Amino acid sequence: MRIELPGLLMEHFIEQHSIPDTFGRPLRNLRVSVTDRCNLRCQYCMPEEEYVWLPREDLLTFEELSELVGIFTELGVDKVRLTGGEPLLRRDLPILVKMLAQNPRVKDLAMTTNGVLLAELAKALYDAGLHRVTVSLDTLRPERFKALTRRGMHEKVLNGIKAVREVGFKELKIDTVVMHGTNEDELIDLLEYGWQIGAEVRFIEYMDVGGATQWSMDKVFSRVEILEVLRRWYGRIEPVIEDSSAPAQRYLLPNGVMFGIIASTTTPFCQTCDRSRLTADGMWYLCLYAQNGIDLRKPLRGGASKEEIKSIIVAGWTQRRDRGAEERKELRSRGVFVPIEGLKKDPHLEMHTRGG
Ligand code: SAM
Ligand code: SF4
Ligand code: SF4
Repeated sequence: MRIELPGLLMEHFIEQHSIPDTFGRPLRNLRVSVTDRCNLRCQYCMPEEEYVWLPREDLLTFEELSELVGIFTELGVDKVRLTGGEPLLRRDLPILVKMLAQNPRVKDLAMTTNGVLLAELAKALYDAGLHRVTVSLDTLRPERFKALTRRGMHEKVLNGIKAVREVGFKELKIDTVVMHGTNEDELIDLLEYGWQIGAEVRFIEYMDVGGATQWSMDKVFSRVEILEVLRRWYGRIEPVIEDSSAPAQRYLLPNGVMFGIIASTTTPFCQTCDRSRLTADGMWYLCLYAQNGIDLRKPLRGGASKEEIKSIIVAGWTQRRDRGAEERKELRSRGVFVPIEGLKKDPHLEMHTRGG
């Protein structure tokens, strides 16, 4: 079903409310995966030896990406996050950043990166108008980094983080996936590191997303366990009360340091989820766990008008019923979400394709 609203009425409606899905969640937050390629092989994301990549000719150009993002922003999206794969592998990325930053409807333009190429690119990204950066960093120990990512580029990541600060970005976050038997002994070291460099650290529970073919519940280091470790060390921890759709619950340590926990596995937050994802080849996914996406490349390249593309997006969002993480949590026995064969048939199911 397509919902056709006359142009002016649609504009007015969106300005007032943004578009609600079937649970009343607004279309606000768009994650744009600019490439499915990556220069690391994190155990929780890309543990396999071989991958099926998106065909190069399908990848949207910067003009196409910017046009689609522009359409989304006319429908209420005001937060855009560039991700991947590793977004900095996309050649000339600052050019895309500049194009997106020129859109006044984009109030928050962020990027999630593994940081390997940040030292080289931080200044160009800042100058292009990127607002803020989140760097994924799971360990402060080079050897552990190598074991976790199958690449020895730890120092590059730390230099990349330093560069973010040096070029003038005001906001920096460090995202850490915490896993039993891997890095749960570094929570305090990571918090102290974050405090030293002025970054907010967010601990993420290991998720059973597509691509996490080694996932099992016993490897998840939960929010409760994280808080227990930190309480033992720091004492009282206060939750910060916020009215926000952000995935992280934030907490305050007695020393005034703030940190976050993204507890998608044990405490999903689907009820307030305003996020959707656009892949580098123009597929639009309404949930991290969605099995099917909506093809926006085809109409875009087929010459559909802006209004036609808008009505595809409106129809998709107004029918959205996704609550993937909650449904996974309700399962009695929980194993790998998509087996390897399924991932090979449709690489869009991979976390590194649809963007974290
Ligand atoms: N390559 C970039 C990076 O690592 O920051 C951006 C893409 S990556 C898919 C985005 C985020 O997803 C990263 O912070 C990563 O830690 C997270 N991620 C990937 N697989 C995950 C999993 N199985 N559970 C929890 N977080 C995961
Ligand atoms: Fe790691 Fe990000 Fe690459 Fe996945 S996409 S393997 S999380 S660096
Ligand atoms: Fe949103 Fe889906 Fe994640 Fe739930 S599982 S928070 S609906 S993306």
